[in-house]
Amino acid sequence: MPARLLTLLLALFCLPVQAEHGTPSGVLAVDQLRFVTANAEFTLMHEMGHLLIHELHLPVLGREEDAADQLGFYGLLLMQREQLDKNFYGRLLDVADYWRLQWQHSQANGGASVVWDSHALDQQRFYNLSCLIYGSDPDHLEWVLEVTGLPIERALYCDQEYAQVEQAVQWLLTRIQRERPEHQGQAIRVSYEEPLDSIEHGPELLSRVRASKVLENVAQRASSLFYLPRALQIRVQNCGAADAWYDRNTGELSLCWELIDHYARLMPALQQLREQQRLAVKRD
Ligand SMILES: [Zn+2]
Repeated sequence: MPARLLTLLLALFCLPVQAEHGTPSGVLAVDQLRFVTANAEFTLMHEMGHLLIHELHLPVLGREEDAADQLGFYGLLLMQREQLDKNFYGRLLDVADYWRLQWQHSQANGGASVVWDSHALDQQRFYNLSCLIYGSDPDHLEWVLEVTGLPIERALYCDQEYAQVEQAVQWLLTRIQRERPEHQGQAIRVSYEEPLDSIEHGPELLSRVRASKVLENVAQRASSLFYLPRALQIRVQNCGAADAWYDRNTGELSLCWELIDHYARLMPALQQLREQQRLAVKRD
């Protein structure tokens, strides 16, 4: 990757390491916090993908939701590489595994697959993300095939899928830079609503997300790198449902406390799910 492009990408996506010190001691377990943080960051990057697609009128071939997942994945990968996080692949797998947990959760609650939806099915999002993780360095990540169960028929082409995402982001950034007007665009503002009492660990989560300044850094870097034609907002709020979205009419990106809470509640089932996968590999 050209150094200039890499610098640009890192400037957009590389955020300070999560401030895990200096915050009140909470009851979130370390691995639970990692899972929640990785998935909240991925969701933020996914929604930022929607924001950039709409505000910059980026061309999209295929489904926008798939493009947003790819932008989210690539942003998260660059961010964690820059942080030299020793749990680099663990965090990426936390994001892929969320979709496997969500799939399991829906089945257990009688939920049917919503095949008409604009998003890929949960199990497809799990395999898509697993493929991108493996494809980022297949020579050293054969173990990812074991822990995810990604079939070899798909794995054979994951390096090409990853290269395609990387090339698309490079192409877009080159175009954006060239076409960016000289004058400064509008800024993205960040606001937080106090989580309701129903949000487990609410005060701890609010304290951590504020201290990390992740949202402020993403907003500031996107505002300074790209010409944004209007004032935009990122809101962390109570929504009444576990959700996140970018509203192209109002220019507001919403990240719901209920979704962050949902990540924390799903996570304890992850160990059992990974053990089942390990036993399945052993049986083969
Ligand atoms: Zn989306």
